[in-house]
Amino acid sequence: RADVGLYRAKQAGRNRTVLESSRQLPLAVELREAIDRGALDVQYQPIVTLGEAGAKAVGVEALLRWSSHAQPEVTTEGLIRVAEEYDLIADLDELVLRRACADAARLQETFAQLDLTLNVNVSGLELAQAEYADRVAGILADSGWPADQLVLEVTESELAAESETAIANLHKLRERGVRIAIDDFGTGYSSLSRLATLPSDILKVDQSFVASIRSDSPAPPLLGVIAALSKSLDLQVIAEGVETEYQAAVLTELGFALAQGYHYSDSQPVTELINDLNERSGLVGASSEPSTNGW
Ligand code: C2E
Ligand code: MG
Ligand code: MG
Ligand code: MG
Repeated sequence: RADVGLYRAKQAGRNRTVLESSRQLPLAVELREAIDRGALDVQYQPIVTLGEAGAKAVGVEALLRWSSHAQPEVTTEGLIRVAEEYDLIADLDELVLRRACADAARLQETFAQLDLTLNVNVSGLELAQAEYADRVAGILADSGWPADQLVLEVTESELAAESETAIANLHKLRERGVRIAIDDFGTGYSSLSRLATLPSDILKVDQSFVASIRSDSPAPPLLGVIAALSKSLDLQVIAEGVETEYQAAVLTELGFALAQGYHYSDSQPVTELINDLNERSGLVGASSEPSTNGW
């Protein structure tokens, strides 16, 4: 795999990617140790409803963070790529899933009025491992997090790899009640016929489409197409990267029901998210009682 995008350097005021493969090995070694020590962080970004009733959190997406390493300029995507290249991804994704199930249980306990869904990203490489679905089932059993409140997100481009094992895993997971989201949808060139047969429940529309919603230009036509498509295929759809009220309004108009983005909240450690949701009790429903258990 090419390591484009691994490092992000600011040059001439814009983000630029540079190739520095010689720095991958030390990073992989450091990452291996961090995984073994559990010294990685997971943050959570709310997924909210769009529409007249106002934004209400219905779930969170778990996102890997690694603050304490020697190369802070490496992006999360870069870390994932190193983990994939050095065969660390299975352990990394398992660590995130275990941590996320425990943190989600804390959130669910604090906000009992919420029917919280937990979204966790999974590498396409992982999904193609024969024992993957069983491993997920084991982690759910250990943690007690309900399968039908878990969504696994895999990117459209990784699903395009057409692995039979991956498809079999998706079927097994869905039989257990786990839902599957196709992440970064619209950038992976799936054919419509393939999309209709993929074992999936949710489309997450890539941020680039949302970013192109601007008040000074017409709404990108593909967004309406994706909204209609998801309806006819009976898939839920989530708009990612919503940063402005204007974008939220346009998406609502186009028929989108769910959104995620800085306009609502950035990702945060679970303790901060709990505090934040307590302060913004509208996000979790009016009946929210402030948490008193000291988290
Ligand atoms: P993703 O799953 O598509 O996650 C959404 C990304 O958009 C996240 O970047 C999030 O921080 C960012 N984001 C959220 N709201 C906004 C917004 O309003 N505007 C903009 N511009 N960005 C926003 P992040 O955290 O850097 O993660 C990058 C990617 O790394 C993720 O993309 C996902 O594919 C992957 N990833 C993250 N955590 C894991 C993990 O635990 N395992 C695996 N396999 N992949 C992961
Ligand atoms: Mg995702
Ligand atoms: Mg995405
Ligand atoms: Mg992405």
